[in-house]
Amino acid sequence: MSRFFTERFASLTPYTPGEQPQDRKYVKLNTNESPFPPSPGVLAAIQEEAGRLQLYSDPESRLVVKAIADRYGVKPSEVIVGNGSDELLYFAFMAFCDEKNPALFPDITYGFYPVYSEVNRIPYVEVPLHEDLTVVLEDYEKLNGTVFLANPNAPTGIALSAAAIENMLRSRPDRLHVVDEAYVDFGAESVLPLTKQYGNLLVIQTFSKSRSLAGARLGFAIGSEEQIRDLNTLKYSTNPYNVNRLTCAAGAAAIAEDEYYRENALQIIENRTWAREKLIQLGFEVTDSRSNFLFARSNRISGNDLYLRLKERGVLVRHFGKERIADYVRITVGTRDQMERLLSEIRMIFSAES
Ligand code: PMP
Repeated sequence: MSRFFTERFASLTPYTPGEQPQDRKYVKLNTNESPFPPSPGVLAAIQEEAGRLQLYSDPESRLVVKAIADRYGVKPSEVIVGNGSDELLYFAFMAFCDEKNPALFPDITYGFYPVYSEVNRIPYVEVPLHEDLTVVLEDYEKLNGTVFLANPNAPTGIALSAAAIENMLRSRPDRLHVVDEAYVDFGAESVLPLTKQYGNLLVIQTFSKSRSLAGARLGFAIGSEEQIRDLNTLKYSTNPYNVNRLTCAAGAAAIAEDEYYRENALQIIENRTWAREKLIQLGFEVTDSRSNFLFARSNRISGNDLYLRLKERGVLVRHFGKERIADYVRITVGTRDQMERLLSEIRMIFSAES
């Protein structure tokens, strides 16, 4: 059989998304989705917009861009929306990295960063996390390129302070820093307000986690007008209608009901604190997560075994085979009921073993 795939991509290893199984109903704690449905206004807005689907979406996504700009106190020209934050991250790698400007990111972070580098043929440097899985910004001090930091980091959930990031922005004005704040609404400090002062900062956020819209695919980036223009150049060179009508309407409606999503995030933080304590009581070591997931390991069971045993019992969590973190599982924080179910399954797995 002939193979037509170009040599350029023949050895590309794609990103592996978390399972979205259709075979049975799981307690789904594997892809950091929200356990809460979208707010009523979002459902109504989608319903209303559906009658206009014969028309292309607004290439400028003005409705949702304005809502985001107003919510975060920036100008619409400082905002771009994307088909999930993944798309904007992809554009950012493409726009701001090349042979002379390698991508710089931790060795353990969002798995898409090396893939975006590879697909764009960008050199990249993976800066090792310290033994305690923290990012230490001094390690980046002397490196040249474009820095990509997930804050809180994934899959550890550990967050850097805004002050530490500001320090870095100040000491390296010549270098661009892209901060991926996918999980920031669950108790970390956002550097979004710093985009006003620092032209070397681009902040990317998503509606997938705290705003219950993972399936709608909506992310946004905020930065200088120049950076947003550059990202738009790439968007208009690939897919001008990157955010569809339903998603644009849903995003604007979600911003209008911010209070609902803030309450949900508080609920997740409360459930995270509770479940973390219970896991520690069961002998787990659990990172200090500021996100909507926990990252935990036990010396009683390997990460892969725990993942498999929980799956058999109808609870899906995420396991990464990567060397330094293979002992861990990542557990999305869901409702209190879901966390109770998770813990009771773990107790049963442990008691069957002893
Ligand atoms: N950044 C990080 C750190 C993530 O974990 C995710 C979720 N997989 C994303 C970005 C992308 O989220 P989305 O494309 O759904 O906005």
